[in-house]
Amino acid sequence: MTSARTRERLVRRLQEQGISNLAVLDRIRNVPRHLFVDEALSSRAYEDTALPIGHGQTISQPYVVARMTEVLLADGPLGKVLEVGTGCGYQSAVLAPLVTSIYTVERIEPLAERARALLRSLQIRNVRFSHTDGCEGLPRFQPFDGILVTAAPQEIPEALLSQLADKGRLVIPVGPGGRQQLLVVTRKGNSFERKTIEPVSFVPLLEGLR
Ligand code: SAH
Repeated sequence: MTSARTRERLVRRLQEQGISNLAVLDRIRNVPRHLFVDEALSSRAYEDTALPIGHGQTISQPYVVARMTEVLLADGPLGKVLEVGTGCGYQSAVLAPLVTSIYTVERIEPLAERARALLRSLQIRNVRFSHTDGCEGLPRFQPFDGILVTAAPQEIPEALLSQLADKGRLVIPVGPGGRQQLLVVTRKGNSFERKTIEPVSFVPLLEGLR
């Protein structure tokens, strides 16, 4: 159920859906997604579907993780990246070796703690975890070459735009449940170029800590 063949089937499916970055596909192949979900669900870990991770949250669908990672890296390798919405840490684990460092923030503390322990056990060492409200970004460590948001606000938070480095890219789902679009915003000096990628479905970005 978690075999090489099952994982390969998932990789092939993502390729058929248009994911072409080989480094990203390799991460989908190698990151043990079954360790990020509850043991009772591990037989479904390599299906291309979102699954519950507790606290009313979900691990993102592999296609969406792959797509967001590919869009983030489309202009070449990145240095410092902020992820808003750690969840179980799967997106961070996929991205970690493809960038210099990741700062990931989560508003639900037990999720952040579980993700920290899991990534440590996988020997992933360039991810820093914070229990904070990602709507504020992470001012202490700005600017970021890339920002990846894995929960959907109604509007792009100003703080995230202002913490983007010049030529930096923000990948973010925006809009109400059922009508969200994945956007990529590229900073060019003080202007921000927006491009719509495709419709997506994420849990909402909520303000404040829990
Ligand atoms: N990146 C995860 C997806 C997690 S789902 C993965 O790889 O599967 C989105 C997460 O965003 C949830 O854990 C939710 O608690 C978190 N979240 C929502 N609003 C937030 C906010 N304002 N700041 C930080 N995290 C937030």
